[in-house]
Amino acid sequence: MDEFEFISTCLAPLAGPGGLGLKDDAAIFKPRAGKDLVITKDTMVEGVHFPYGHHGAKTAEKLLRVNLSDLAAKGAKPVGYLLSIVWPRGVDERSFKDFASGLAAIQKKYGFKLLGGDTTSTDGAMVVTATLIGEVPENEMVKRSGAKASDDIWVTGTIGDAYLGLQFVLGRPLDPKPKTAAVKRFEDAYFRPEPRLSFAEALKSYASACADISDGLIADAGHISTASGVMFNLQLEDIPLSKQAALWVNEERERLKTLVTAGDDYELIFTSTSSNTLALLEAADKSGLKLTKIGTVSAGAGVKVSTANGKTVEFSKTGHKHF
Ligand code: ADP
Ligand code: MG
Repeated sequence: MDEFEFISTCLAPLAGPGGLGLKDDAAIFKPRAGKDLVITKDTMVEGVHFPYGHHGAKTAEKLLRVNLSDLAAKGAKPVGYLLSIVWPRGVDERSFKDFASGLAAIQKKYGFKLLGGDTTSTDGAMVVTATLIGEVPENEMVKRSGAKASDDIWVTGTIGDAYLGLQFVLGRPLDPKPKTAAVKRFEDAYFRPEPRLSFAEALKSYASACADISDGLIADAGHISTASGVMFNLQLEDIPLSKQAALWVNEERERLKTLVTAGDDYELIFTSTSSNTLALLEAADKSGLKLTKIGTVSAGAGVKVSTANGKTVEFSKTGHKHF
């Protein structure tokens, strides 16, 4: 299968009306009246963001899922995307179809279509990039910069499962050895993070600031605190873990610090005034989402993490940096 067959047989069926069947030089996209477009891009590199040799559906799914997580954090709904694929030369042809099937599954699940992209190849590692377009009512995008002193700090889901999944993927044994169901939970968290789009509407109504957690909870908390010009005060023991991750942490308390700085969680961290507490919990309940208050905002700068007995926690690193 050559480049053009790949586009016409595997990708063209995924295109929306604006994609013109992937038969033109470019796509056309008309924003709806009264909406702002929210645009985000994430790149994944083989051997960095996904394991070597994973050229198929798992990688395609994760690419869209991590991009959708950015849209969710901004309170946006996905409407379309552009996709760039750099295939490793000589890749098994089955990967083409498999990759497209991963895209199709996520498009269907979240209701958006392909607009266009670019395809090329390399002697090196596979690189995939997606640019997602979402929409919000005009001026309603949730920014990182709106957190105010005395706001509460919340996080969705649980933190650290994806890190434990990655240890499995890398063949590093965990101690104590998790049960099969736990391994499945960890691997799913790593390969198939759930973009919190079901909570986007609530964020738009109640959040003063939000970011998705891709670099590590402490690092991403820092991104909001810097953008908002306020201080984040987090309570270490309040950070929610799955039962399975808690078993790993109970072996050695220091491990909690690893999980809150590890990244790849794709949960949302956001701030909201305390009068919204009930409304937030109700919205979370409705979307079947766990929501946990992990701290409060104050005047100042930076992120201060305290333990239940009042000690300040020091971190040698707060999250992942690409370079
Ligand atoms: P050009 O030569 O101008 O780069 P291409 O031949 O690469 O154009 O692309 C032809 C069509 O196929 C365009 O509509 C383009 O958007 C689409 N396309 C190419 N690669 C991809 C991809 N990876 N994902 C989605 N659409 C693609
Ligand atoms: Mg091209």
